[in-house]
Amino acid sequence: MENNIKDKVVIITGASSGMGEAAAKHLASLGATVVLGARRADKIEKLAKDIQENGGKALAVEVDVTKREEVKKLAVETVKQFGKIDVILNNAGVMPLSPIDRLNVEEWDTMIDVNIKGVLNGIAAVLPYMKEQKFGQIINTSSVAGHKVFNGSAVYSATKYAVRALTEGLRMEVKPYNIRTTIVCPGAVKTELLEHISEADIQQANKDYVGEVGISPDSFARVVAFAISQPEDVDINEVIFRPTAQE
Ligand code: NDP
Repeated sequence: MENNIKDKVVIITGASSGMGEAAAKHLASLGATVVLGARRADKIEKLAKDIQENGGKALAVEVDVTKREEVKKLAVETVKQFGKIDVILNNAGVMPLSPIDRLNVEEWDTMIDVNIKGVLNGIAAVLPYMKEQKFGQIINTSSVAGHKVFNGSAVYSATKYAVRALTEGLRMEVKPYNIRTTIVCPGAVKTELLEHISEADIQQANKDYVGEVGISPDSFARVVAFAISQPEDVDINEVIFRPTAQE
């Protein structure tokens, strides 16, 4: 049976580490051409090289998802090189958790800019192409924290609830264009995400928890592949997954 992934052109933001990196490797191994976006150019260039050395197709494009013009260029470059965009995985995200009353207001701005506006920038960049093509799939990374607010996760959760809301709205709007939309909501996955928590106590508590129950980013890669691999008339709208040991 065809996997419906082979020869697809897939843009992945946040491809320089964690779940984006795992998704890139997995999709490339299944025959997709992957376009890797992130700010750390050295990381995505190395990943592209590794994928190519393993017989896959990959292109690295340095991008800051908070900059609309840069994200637009990511889409333009993809079409220039590969002629189409089958999928965008809007996965770049940050999670500097802290209670609201500590007033880390700049971190609130960063979360809103990367986690919400970054996703919107990705949608804006690919939608004109996908509408014209009359096919495409927009996959946005939300979270279990987009379903439930944890201690210290109010602003982060607000951004991840927003990702679910805007993806559901988009799903209904893009039906005439044969475009699929998918929300992926991971639970605790072992990545670099906790490294950017500035509050030492919150960081330690999260590291302890994720260190104990967290699962491999490969779990995310498999879920993304599952959603893409469905026949085009099947749209996996949302997947929530978490470690078996997670509350
Ligand atoms: P990582 O920190 O390993 O990866 C985050 C990625 O986002 C990096 O590739 C980083 O690249 C990129 N990124 C951050 N800011 C920007 C920016 N301004 N422009 C472009 N890229 C950016 O964490 P994860 O793999 O865990 O995170 C991936 C997604 O999964 C995030 O949206 C996160 O919120 C979500 N998530 C994670 C969970 C977990 O338990 N790990 C659980 C639920 C959801 P670079 O720094 O090179 O730009």
